[in-house]
Amino acid sequence: MQRVALGPNGRVLRLGTEERVFNRHQRRAIALRDGNCIIPGCGVPAGWCEIHHVTEHAAGGPTHTDNGVLLCWFHHRFVDKGPWRIRMNRGVPEVQAPAWFDRSGGWRPVTKSRTRMLDLVGRRT
Ligand SMILES: [Zn+2]
Repeated sequence: MQRVALGPNGRVLRLGTEERVFNRHQRRAIALRDGNCIIPGCGVPAGWCEIHHVTEHAAGGPTHTDNGVLLCWFHHRFVDKGPWRIRMNRGVPEVQAPAWFDRSGGWRPVTKSRTRMLDLVGRRT
């Protein structure tokens, strides 16, 4: 069992390493935050996903939970070529969908953690 603390916006609080590959503790925390592949409409579960460096490791992107997101094999292979765009906003992943999926062109948070989902439900009632 491992305890992972999430902030009020769903952010994972502190887990980092100098390694290029995310360790199992970071992977668990990211899985807790993201739930599954973060691309909307994709339901590939965390156990089958890879961790993507939002800012590439070669470009100085840290191997840190604030720079890693869950992507399935398919979306990981094609994320750098578009049409989906990913960024981190204070530790929470956001996705900009292609126009055929979302005409607004806006960024939206995509974390699917249970605490985040409960928070969203709570705000609507
Ligand atoms: Zn996917």
